[in-house]
Amino acid sequence: MLASDIRRIVDRARAGKQLGPDEIGELFSVPLVSEEAYYIQYVGREMSREASGGKAEIHAQIGIDNQACPNNCEFCSFAACNGVFKKPSIASLEEILERARDFEKNGANAILLMTTVAFPFEDFIVIAREVKRHLQEDTVLIANLPDFGYQEAMALKDAGVNGIYHAVRLGEGEVTRIEPAKRLNTIKAAKQAGLKVCTCLEPVGPEHTIEELVEKTLICRDIEPVFSGAGRRISVPGSRLERFGMVSEARMALYVAVVRLAMGYGAPLNCTHEPNVPAAIAGADIIWAEAGTNPRDTDQKTEKSRGFNVQRCRQIFKEAEWEVYEGPSQYFL
Ligand code: SF4
Repeated sequence: MLASDIRRIVDRARAGKQLGPDEIGELFSVPLVSEEAYYIQYVGREMSREASGGKAEIHAQIGIDNQACPNNCEFCSFAACNGVFKKPSIASLEEILERARDFEKNGANAILLMTTVAFPFEDFIVIAREVKRHLQEDTVLIANLPDFGYQEAMALKDAGVNGIYHAVRLGEGEVTRIEPAKRLNTIKAAKQAGLKVCTCLEPVGPEHTIEELVEKTLICRDIEPVFSGAGRRISVPGSRLERFGMVSEARMALYVAVVRLAMGYGAPLNCTHEPNVPAAIAGADIIWAEAGTNPRDTDQKTEKSRGFNVQRCRQIFKEAEWEVYEGPSQYFL
């Protein structure tokens, strides 16, 4: 496709027109170092600035456990098939509260709690209530949990949870044991219960075709989330996917911008994970601090390894010249 045709697609997105699958595919396909690629990233940044009022956010994830998970998502270090953690860890309530308070004190705009499928839902509800009780009243609480139905969604809402992170991941049903329909049913249940939903195009690896990137981007758009975005697959040592390697941060910056153009202005925020400056320059305006267990890490405590703290996330935004919003995220009310 000619550079002028790409420019036309980009300008259509910037003017608020909804892009079709072929157009999104063309944007994902541009050469990485090209005038078109940088125009896409420039407009991605501009659209993100407009959608979020120029204020970026830092959300903070607390991984509660890393028990061997039978869902066997091949990109995840908790998957039983990857055998990463010989002695699983489960955080105590006190540890979780301490991490949550620490994140809040350092200015995280939302706190997210995450578990594997082996962690009992009822126990999660108790933890969510306690976290909510110990934090400031308006602190935003998000859950990243295995699939659930409407009753569980209502229980989350009742416990003070504001939203969920949930995605139909790349390779869902092929490199995971979960059917895409099950993921979508969870998202539907959450929305019916009045929970906000956040999602992403993830985990992107060199093994994914343009067609699949487009298909999953369209799913993100249909969800009408608080944020979408794009995150890369981090190679889990010894996993079957390790042989494919990883997508570069430079390419992810392009993909993050393409997702913004595909989403339009509807999603206030555009996410990337793990945090990095190139993606923030290209319009990623929500990134993640992490503590506890982490499905991309081989360390029991990710704060000692891959996990960023809030200050490091702030530094990323500073380097990319984003202002960070102060106070609880306003998009989960
Ligand atoms: S991604 Fe979630 S469901 Fe899949 S193996 Fe990891 S913890 Fe289990």
